[in-house]
Amino acid sequence: MLKIYNTLTRKKENFVPLKKNNVGLYTCGPTVYNYAHIGNLRSYVFEDILKRVLLFNKYKVKHVMNITDIDDKTIRASQEANQTLKKFTATYTLAFKEDAKKLNILSPGKYAPATNYIKPMTALTQKLIKNGFAYEKDGSVYFNIKKFKNYGKLARLNFSGMKAGARVDVDNYEKENPADFVLWKAWTPKDGPVFWQTPLGKGRPGWHIECSVISMKELGQPFDIHAGGVDLIFPHHENEIAQSEAALNKPFVKYWLHGEHLLVNNQKMAKSLNNFFTLRDLITRHFNPLAFRYLLLTTHYRSKLNFTLEALEAAERGLEHLHDVVRKLKQEKKINNKNREIDGDNKMGDKRYEIRDKFLEAINDDLDTPGALAIVWEAIKNNLIDYKTLLTFDKVLGLGLDKAKTKKTKIPVVVQKLLNARAIARAEKDWKESDRLREEIKKIEFEVQDSADGGQTVVEL
Ligand code: AMP
Ligand code: ZN
Repeated sequence: MLKIYNTLTRKKENFVPLKKNNVGLYTCGPTVYNYAHIGNLRSYVFEDILKRVLLFNKYKVKHVMNITDIDDKTIRASQEANQTLKKFTATYTLAFKEDAKKLNILSPGKYAPATNYIKPMTALTQKLIKNGFAYEKDGSVYFNIKKFKNYGKLARLNFSGMKAGARVDVDNYEKENPADFVLWKAWTPKDGPVFWQTPLGKGRPGWHIECSVISMKELGQPFDIHAGGVDLIFPHHENEIAQSEAALNKPFVKYWLHGEHLLVNNQKMAKSLNNFFTLRDLITRHFNPLAFRYLLLTTHYRSKLNFTLEALEAAERGLEHLHDVVRKLKQEKKINNKNREIDGDNKMGDKRYEIRDKFLEAINDDLDTPGALAIVWEAIKNNLIDYKTLLTFDKVLGLGLDKAKTKKTKIPVVVQKLLNARAIARAEKDWKESDRLREEIKKIEFEVQDSADGGQTVVEL
């Protein structure tokens, strides 16, 4: 049984979906004003593991991720770049999708850009005004947190220092300063051409409302799992709960999951602190993006992880070692198939089930990826794992183990000798001998490809 840690209850709980085998999953997506840093990417890899574990447990997952393509940061940055907001955010949306692909992050069923939902955001804001949870002030609309009696239940806020009637216009603020937050922002000249003309007036939505509206529309309310980084607990997720539960008067989300931060020198990696790497920075330094994924898997998602290039180098060595093992196991599988050593296979059978159970137990224990990796390495050490099982585990780990073969094919000496002989035969235009040698090479499961300039390359079959 899958167990996950629910921030709402501060407990590890059995996962029981609301509707049989179907799971609604909402994850807060990127603010597309720049390249994501690898701290951001840690959160998306954690969510990807969560989704893969759900799939491994045979749940059907409907996954929605918003794209924040309208907020203070995107407007400011697009102005600095002298581009329309739409064009500017499109560039970074694409960059984000590319990064996600390089990290083997499965695409959500739906990417939902906030600007596609302006109308329902306006409608929800109107509803909150009508129900007495929101009020207008100078053309903007604010959520009155005093009116929502459960305000603070996720972040467990202490209101003692709260100033009466305090209001915030900025999207992000500290837990120490709970205040009425903005649902709709009136247009100001510094927004330039960015505004929508709506029944609420000329302006644009606040940040928090987008996730309430998109999840409500795409997954319904309540839905199963909402996830993001720990910095989103307050104010973002607290505000989402307030908006959604006040509007529909029913629970919003059953399980809240939050991933811990990636640190640099024990400080949160953040754009504002200028202590960040992007995935592109790592690639420029010749790292395999999946080495970064491997590094992330070695730490539990609820623990902080201090990033260093040395740790990444060690992770890359670990991943390469794993790829070597995969190649070796694949070779063994071929030999076994050829010799029909089904006997050997059967002997391994029981042990393999044991390892599968242990692996499942680890990942189902609140996504314990370090534990799962330890089981894999232990099984490798004791010769208790085969190619197929390892690839099955990779459905959760996502380390691209199925592609391990083509990356680093070492040409066996015997193949090299045959290739040399074939080169001589071809130079002497002895085509019969050349074809015979091609067949010989094929028997060892390599295929020769002749290039236009007369050279030969081989690929492993
Ligand atoms: P943003 O693009 O700023 O909205 O953030 C996208 C995601 O990255 C959110 O889920 C944040 O919680 C997460 N995030 C931001 N900084 C870090 C970090 N240093 N480590 C892990 N996750 C982070
Ligand atoms: Zn969100």
